[in-house]
Amino acid sequence: MVVYKSEEEIQIIRESAQILGRAHGEVAKRIKPGVTTQELDRIAEEFIKDHGGIPSFKDYHGFPSSLCISVNEVVVHGFPGKYELREGDVLSVDCGVQFKGFHSDSAYTYPLVGAKPEVLLLLERTYESLFIGIQQAKSGNRMGDVGFAIQTFVEKFGYGVVRELVGHGVGRELHEDPEVPNFGKRGKGVKLTAGMVFAIEPMINMGTKNVIQEQDGWTIRTKDRKPSAHFEHMVAIYKDRTEILTTHEYIEQNYSYQWRNRRQ
Ligand code: MG
Ligand code: MG
Repeated sequence: MVVYKSEEEIQIIRESAQILGRAHGEVAKRIKPGVTTQELDRIAEEFIKDHGGIPSFKDYHGFPSSLCISVNEVVVHGFPGKYELREGDVLSVDCGVQFKGFHSDSAYTYPLVGAKPEVLLLLERTYESLFIGIQQAKSGNRMGDVGFAIQTFVEKFGYGVVRELVGHGVGRELHEDPEVPNFGKRGKGVKLTAGMVFAIEPMINMGTKNVIQEQDGWTIRTKDRKPSAHFEHMVAIYKDRTEILTTHEYIEQNYSYQWRNRRQ
């Protein structure tokens, strides 16, 4: 059942998303070779708590941390730990904040210096696919229009679209209806109407779309161990427009490797 949000509720989600965006920015400052992923988790958790939020992921169905940190072939839901980042790695940082009873959720994939050109391309195209999906997320369209647009764009490059994991409604619960698949058929699925708030989060693999869940019950990696990328924004649907509620602005300001501008 889709829970529609009032303007007052969306305002709280906006505030939640601001804390989230700034927490991502603090993490971005620290990402470099030699840093452990648990250090990044500590920074995010501290920032969220210092700003009146609660980390949404910590203890969510037993998840142990405030961030999901997924390195290289790990698609999503990786645990922060003692792993030290290395040149050439790519890491997805996914974070959620609960503020005044409402969640926000967003993710960004960072290349470290030394990442291969084909990996940078995977990241660029996955990032672009997120916005191609967002363009279709508008009142009157169907959810299948969003998934279709993302899938058609990335499959042109031979990439695999993960089927087992999808975006989702967000509100008082971190994961609500509707599901937001990154694949689908045009004109099919739930109708998008004013008051819907959901996360769009393409998870795109360099190779096969197939994934494996590790023994820990959480970590999802690609079956062929090729790298994967993941970017996520939350949107609110209005009658005549769509608003992106989350922000990557602080990430882009603070991350030392300006990889998206490297050709300029
Ligand atoms: Mg999400
Ligand atoms: Mg997320």
